[in-house]
Amino acid sequence: MCGIFGIFNIEKAEKYAFFGIYALQHRGQESVGIASSDFEDVKVVRKEGLVLESIKKEELSQISGYCAIAHVRYSTAGDSGGINSQPIIMETPLGKAAVVHNGNLTNYLALREELQAQGIELSYTSDTELFLKLLGRGQFIPEGIEIHPLDREIMPAIFYVISKVKGAYSLLYLFKDRIIALRDPMGFRPLLMGRLKDAILFASESCAFDILQAEIWREIKPGEVLVVDKHGIRSYFPFKSEKKAMCIFELVYFSKPESYIFDNWVYRVRKRMGELLAEEDEIEADLVVPVPDSGLVAAIGYSQKKSIPLELGLIRNHYVGRSFIEPTQELRDIKVLMKLNANRAVLESKRVVVIDDSLVRGTTSKKIVNMLRRAGAKEVHMRIASPPVIGPCYFGIDTPTRDELIANRMSIEDIRRFIGADSLKYLSLEALRATVENPEDFCDACFSNCYPLEVEGSTLRIR
Ligand code: AMP
Repeated sequence: MCGIFGIFNIEKAEKYAFFGIYALQHRGQESVGIASSDFEDVKVVRKEGLVLESIKKEELSQISGYCAIAHVRYSTAGDSGGINSQPIIMETPLGKAAVVHNGNLTNYLALREELQAQGIELSYTSDTELFLKLLGRGQFIPEGIEIHPLDREIMPAIFYVISKVKGAYSLLYLFKDRIIALRDPMGFRPLLMGRLKDAILFASESCAFDILQAEIWREIKPGEVLVVDKHGIRSYFPFKSEKKAMCIFELVYFSKPESYIFDNWVYRVRKRMGELLAEEDEIEADLVVPVPDSGLVAAIGYSQKKSIPLELGLIRNHYVGRSFIEPTQELRDIKVLMKLNANRAVLESKRVVVIDDSLVRGTTSKKIVNMLRRAGAKEVHMRIASPPVIGPCYFGIDTPTRDELIANRMSIEDIRRFIGADSLKYLSLEALRATVENPEDFCDACFSNCYPLEVEGSTLRIR
């Protein structure tokens, strides 16, 4: 998972990119990078760590320009170290270019081998590099596509790249005088366009426009290729988008609740998940307790629907960074305890429904249940605002392997026993699908095991 941001046609574009990508920090905390152009040259700064802590003012002023792209990384493919941090920047046959990518290519290994067989050296271990290495290696003009005179040189090369790659990509190219935005034909990952006076913005989520007081213009559509330069904006649809597969997990967990993506307000959908969870649930309880922050919005929906009061029975510490100290056996719960603390003031002797967005390995829930009991809860009923996670993601979410997913190893009753709850219930798949207007346009393979696309080297059930 990653977050991407872009802005074209504004003085000190690198500063806007800095704040824009800061608003997307939740999408990746491993590394951050900004590339910018002053219409003459493309420059980049890349750092490991968080946006605010790692990029220095002087480093930003060294890349000052009029357009910029930025990235926060949370690795799903390739090594997680600094070498694969983005933007990746390279001299290409079409000039110097930088690229930021959110998603995951499903034919990366085959493409990598194909390029290496041609004697082309690859310097990174991530799929994103291919978007630059394939540039200028071929041309492709799909039938019936009229290319604007200004794009005659560049577009056939971009269409060629798109014809080669498969899988999930919301992506921005920065050339010295333009930005090109791409979204794969299935639209796995979100990408929006915004406006701020004469500037055009791009972002994974609309919360990156809010921080700059820019307005949402529209989404980049699945399969769209959009160019922005000094002459204006031009849009192409080189390949048909027949089947969409927008990621439902973005709505369940990944995106910020105040964001607008996939033609939906995340908050509304997430709250609906909680409401439907309540409708499917007979339990009687005194309190609804959200797991902050991921379960909060669903818990509001659940509490309102059931008319059971919501209380902050778990309090989050907002200063947790990454802990490099491995706890001892006695301190094995310390990682969760560093982030969450139970609030005895509201929990004592109460029957509690605790709500989280998803249960993946089950280790977090186990610790939370234990924590609530120690703080005096009389009963702990765990409710999950999405179905059991049973399928790994090949399209950009960092999920564990199939065997590590607890729902593949245990029945729901066994999971309940493992986490130590008095009862455990998940949102049904039908209810999850009912939270969006057009469920057939979403990928829910992590919950249904039905994949929208073949993945190289795997035998998946294709829907
Ligand atoms: P666990 O069941 O211990 O694996 O933890 C599940 C919790 O981690 C959920 O409550 C989510 O809030 C969060 N979560 C779910 N998916 C991811 C992911 N891909 N990366 C990081 N955290 C996640």
